[in-house]
Amino acid sequence: MTNIGGGNKRAPKSMNMLWVTLAAAVAWTAAAQAADCPRKGTLGTSRILSVDAASTPRVGLKNFPQTLPLADHEVVLTFDDGPWPPTTPRVLAALAHECARATFFLIGKPASEHPELVRRIAARGHTIGHHTWLHRSLMRIKPSETTEEIDHGISAVEMALHGVATTTPSTPFFRFPGFETTPATLDFLQSRGIVVFGADLWASDWNPMTAAQELKLITDRLKAAGRGIILFHDPKARTATVLPAFLRYLRDNHYRVVHVEPKEPGAQIKAAP
Ligand SMILES: [Zn+2]
Repeated sequence: MTNIGGGNKRAPKSMNMLWVTLAAAVAWTAAAQAADCPRKGTLGTSRILSVDAASTPRVGLKNFPQTLPLADHEVVLTFDDGPWPPTTPRVLAALAHECARATFFLIGKPASEHPELVRRIAARGHTIGHHTWLHRSLMRIKPSETTEEIDHGISAVEMALHGVATTTPSTPFFRFPGFETTPATLDFLQSRGIVVFGADLWASDWNPMTAAQELKLITDRLKAAGRGIILFHDPKARTATVLPAFLRYLRDNHYRVVHVEPKEPGAQIKAAP
């Protein structure tokens, strides 16, 4: 699935090879850091789950009939709508404090405006998925515009990560803005081998409430569900505030974090820091 060195007409091959070398070095560093979390007693990341469109094209029980094969007390942490400089670093710090890895579904325009933050997310060992260029509803715009909205978002994130404006994502994971799917856009993503992520539960962090209320809401929902793909929004300051307590709750209640990555070896290329 990688595009580095293959078919890209905008960057010379030597430049691509430099990126590959840098990326490989950082990938090793990120993996080593994840394996050697310096503090004992952290939540940690219990296992890596490889995900591909052939076996799980669409996951998340809020949206689809199937989800990821998670055991009881296993959770996948996901964050939408970043990168956002005031709050994404606070989310990264909370995850690093507990050695927990997550998946960030980035919007293309802010990714193009804050490429260093995109690379920082990847360098910390997190997975980077895609969430369109401007977060417009793909249900409400003209069908002729949906492909551009998806592809522009992918290429902006790929450019921030690897310096290559390609519409083939190095991590083929996508989430619809507002979960607003259409049969045509679902078919389009499936034809491209891109896994569509919904969610199994969420914090409703787009609604007004206090931090204490958000924490109670998500922990109550998790208690009821027992497992699942959890959706937060890293641009929400209140979620950044709640996250350390939520991760401690996971640790104290014996939940385990599962990290999702693309199935194809080498498909996920880590960025330079
Ligand atoms: Zn969103």
